[in-house]
Amino acid sequence: MNKYLERAFELKDEMVENRRHFHMYPELQNNLPETVKYVRSQLEAMGYEVQEICKCGLVALAGGKKPGKCILIRGDMDALPMPEDTGLPFSSKNDGAMHACGHDFHMSMLLAAAKMLKEHEDEIEGTVKICFQPNEETFGGAKDMIDAGVMENPHVDVAFAIHVGPMADIGTLDFGKGLTMGSADGFEIVVNGKGCHGAAPHRGISPINIGVHIYLALQELLSREVDPAEQCTMTLGSMLFGDGATNVIPSEGRLLGTMRGFNDELIQHLRKRVEEVSDLTAKAYGGSAHVNWLFSSPAMYCDPEFTDDVVRYATDVVGAERMIPKKARATGSEDFAYFGRLVPSQIFWLGAGVDDHSKRISNHNPRVLFSEEALPYGAAVYVQCAIEWLKEHK
Ligand SMILES: [Zn+2]
Ligand SMILES: [Zn+2]
Repeated sequence: MNKYLERAFELKDEMVENRRHFHMYPELQNNLPETVKYVRSQLEAMGYEVQEICKCGLVALAGGKKPGKCILIRGDMDALPMPEDTGLPFSSKNDGAMHACGHDFHMSMLLAAAKMLKEHEDEIEGTVKICFQPNEETFGGAKDMIDAGVMENPHVDVAFAIHVGPMADIGTLDFGKGLTMGSADGFEIVVNGKGCHGAAPHRGISPINIGVHIYLALQELLSREVDPAEQCTMTLGSMLFGDGATNVIPSEGRLLGTMRGFNDELIQHLRKRVEEVSDLTAKAYGGSAHVNWLFSSPAMYCDPEFTDDVVRYATDVVGAERMIPKKARATGSEDFAYFGRLVPSQIFWLGAGVDDHSKRISNHNPRVLFSEEALPYGAAVYVQCAIEWLKEHK
């Protein structure tokens, strides 16, 4: 058995304890005071000096005693704003928040990896930058850490991350090359009309009418202006108009949506068109509309050469039969993509599906379950990839 995997199995009880602690006390976005306090104290107990480089963004360095390059390994820490319905004894105690994406696993695995890296610190040929990132779910955290200088001091040469997946078998690693996950651009369209009595619609301007026309026009952008060979989606997730009355024309309302794709130029074109279509459609009916961009994350690019390297190292941990090349791109998004735009990067999807296949359900679901049996694999893969890549790239 791979020596780091063997050690990770020894650390499994500790990893489970940490994971359950994080699971019970989920926090959101970059408002993670208790999570950060816990992670920091664990790292400090291992002998790390921990830096908070931006709000709730932690960095610790391993190695640095021998010359060499720098690999960044990242775990995200935020939960989702949703109630939990798993019935687990360690269910969320924070109302309206749940670790439904598995970031509790990421923190626990990265902490165990940090412990192992400390144990092998004298062997590290260069530096491992251990990065605990806030606010992945609304795509702000990676960018915040980059803006705060995470890629320098020392300069980062490559970046690596792991995300757990509740649908795949324990310890499998799903990976792709090139563009593997879509971009995400979130928007809010504020529509203004003129409110009035429903019995005299000619005295007002209905924002609902405008909103419906904007909705349809946005769908047509995809069918009329996007090359059919492109993978691109535009989803309107909310249309918020009126207050429940049957006979009132409200004065304003909002549409909320997300756009995803793999082509930067196309996304820029569509961003411009969302603004034009909203503005001109509203004007056609006598109202006005304004688009606010809520978040933006680029498509994830996995460097082919770096991928070959980490696949080789990870194979040593999980075995060739557990390495699964991606069959298709996913339109889901990850803000780790920001790292992928700067340096060669890879994000592995670690299988953490429960044994009972009938209970497997995707992440972001209030009943999602992850198997803790996957924890040692994730921790060992982090360590193996970091130490081996540095050794081979002096
Ligand atoms: Zn998520
Ligand atoms: Zn996630």
